[in-house]
Amino acid sequence: MTIGRFAPSPSGRMHLGNLFTALLAWLSVRAKGGKMLLRIEDLDPDRSKQEYIDALRDDLSWLGLWWDEEMPLQSTRSERYAEAFDRLPTYPCYCSRSELHVASAPHMSDGKLIYAGTCRDLSEEERKTKTRNPAWRVRVPDRTITFTDGVFGLQRENLAEECGDFIVRRSDGVYAYQLAVVCDDADGGLTEVVRGCDLMDSTPRQIWLYETLGLPVPQFYHVPLLVAPDGKRLSKREKSLDMSHLRGRFQPETLIGYLACLAGLIAKPVPVKAAELIEVFSWNKIGKEPITVKTLL
Ligand code: GLU
Repeated sequence: MTIGRFAPSPSGRMHLGNLFTALLAWLSVRAKGGKMLLRIEDLDPDRSKQEYIDALRDDLSWLGLWWDEEMPLQSTRSERYAEAFDRLPTYPCYCSRSELHVASAPHMSDGKLIYAGTCRDLSEEERKTKTRNPAWRVRVPDRTITFTDGVFGLQRENLAEECGDFIVRRSDGVYAYQLAVVCDDADGGLTEVVRGCDLMDSTPRQIWLYETLGLPVPQFYHVPLLVAPDGKRLSKREKSLDMSHLRGRFQPETLIGYLACLAGLIAKPVPVKAAELIEVFSWNKIGKEPITVKTLL
């Protein structure tokens, strides 16, 4: 049976780009008669807010994107993450480079630094001289991970060269997104993961974690990004495209119709219910190119 998920982060209201991904994730599961789970990714205590958790559930319901079960909140799962962490080849890293955002999914615009390996081979003696609480990194092998994305086709990445050892636990004890998401998706029995293509380069790291932890790897579908006319990613900063504004201006069917038209599922942006799109949905209709949002409706 197909099992998919919504995995929103409660660090703000959902915006148009999140809705686009949520709609495609939902349609993919419903078109296969599968089960849809909701998982609120409140991993980072500094960025998650209860008001956004409530709003996420309410916004998805308002859009007609219902789910079958809700998964446990990430903030309740640290024992599970700790158990997985203990089975990984980790080492303490004392570098002071910012690790703050590793509990959030790294979107492409965040840039990517390849860790130079400074703390990789410190001796016990050298470790003892450090005063800072360490973050923990995993020692990645010199291995190329390949996978076939359901939209973008064959992908490959050499972990050592293109990624480097990555953080799985922050110095304050918060587990990183990369580790948490793998444990959660595996424990939920997820068979597919649909998310924005700016998370594509997290996938090889996650596949390696699945394999190292002996967990089954789901099918990945990375969906094209919505961009502004200048080609830049629509960001959460554009308040007019977040749900607090969108819900004031539009009916759910109008928004769904608009998104379905952007996705190429219908020819014109006419109002439509999410459930009415199930029969026209196919991954073959979803292109790879970024989708420009010219004017909103
Ligand atoms: N919580 C992430 C986000 O809202 C999504 C992570 C994922 O789909 O793996 O960007």
